[in-house]
Amino acid sequence: MPTFRELLTQAKSKIREVDTAAAEAAIGANPDTVVLDVREADEYEQGALPGALHIPRGFLELQVEGKVPDKSVPVVVYCAGGVRSALAAESLQQLGYTDVVSMAGGFGKWKNEGRNWKTPQALSAEQRNRYHRHLLLPEVGEAGQQKLLDSKVLLLGAGGLGSPAALYLAAAGVGTVGIIDMDVVDDSNLQRQILHNVDRVGERKVDSAKKTLTLLNPDVDVVTYDVRLGADNVLDVIDGYDVIVDGTDNFPTRYLVNDASLVKRIPVVHGSIFRFEGQATVFAPYQGPCYRCMIPEPPPAELAPSCAEAGVLGVLPGIVGSIQAMEAIKLLLGLGDPLIGRLLAYDALEESFRTFKVHRDPECPACGPDAGEIVIADYDELCMPHAH
Ligand SMILES: [Zn+2]
Repeated sequence: MPTFRELLTQAKSKIREVDTAAAEAAIGANPDTVVLDVREADEYEQGALPGALHIPRGFLELQVEGKVPDKSVPVVVYCAGGVRSALAAESLQQLGYTDVVSMAGGFGKWKNEGRNWKTPQALSAEQRNRYHRHLLLPEVGEAGQQKLLDSKVLLLGAGGLGSPAALYLAAAGVGTVGIIDMDVVDDSNLQRQILHNVDRVGERKVDSAKKTLTLLNPDVDVVTYDVRLGADNVLDVIDGYDVIVDGTDNFPTRYLVNDASLVKRIPVVHGSIFRFEGQATVFAPYQGPCYRCMIPEPPPAELAPSCAEAGVLGVLPGIVGSIQAMEAIKLLLGLGDPLIGRLLAYDALEESFRTFKVHRDPECPACGPDAGEIVIADYDELCMPHAH
């Protein structure tokens, strides 16, 4: 029967150990690196490496394949001093993980050397219950849920698109939902704007939205802006938001938001609807095309009737707004392939979805290489960028 010390020596001979400096360099060099904390919950809650995945040593074999499905991903495993992590690294190798290192000296040494660490925020029992179906997804998990709770999404409009987007974002636990709208609730809105109801007719839309969302999820801080978005306030309003969900229905505002989002480098999830057809895409500043790349100039007013003039089937914004909420959450969590450089077109009568590629325009007057400094200005119906 080998002694513990012999077992440990044996384990260490089979794994790779790195010191804290090498571990920090490896984590910094590859954002996909899984930093795995195998200490007990009470140790983890006192402080941990930023972004660490926590699986106590006793649950490692049981849980790791669910939480880290890709066995070729680099894993840096640590504990308090480097003993449990050495044993854990050996177990991970036996499970088929191919790129595992154990951090010698553990969290104790890491912290003593003044390296970056933080106190992890833990979900409350109520939150664990509320978000249970998210926690079951390894791609979201507790860290992802915490990220959503720390996220800020700004909705432009509490109307047809903003309603389903706001409801799903609030239900998902996006911690701050900003809503800008200066309308009041009208009976004719209720055919599609499901944030509102008959009791709210005549009320400010932002107030009605806040009531609905707070009743749905009290975790969410709903910040309301009962103003018209203009050149004088757009940079202040969007400042600090992680994602903008654009549910506006007019060209001047879209161009204004586009230019401001480029300045602040905030991705915009765009949605639009017309009769039985909808579109959605994501504008990621300087990473993919912007709104001006896709639509260099607005169509003449007579060819672009507003929703009020053209009519829209009430379910349609429900579908497109839900897609916008999905894209926003994907951006917040870094999940999957967002609709960057792709326009998703939905035809309700055919019940079909098609995607079209959208490219960055090298001549784009807003995001092109020769664009020059962006001037934020209110646009007339021509929406041309202003001269510098
Ligand atoms: Zn552009």
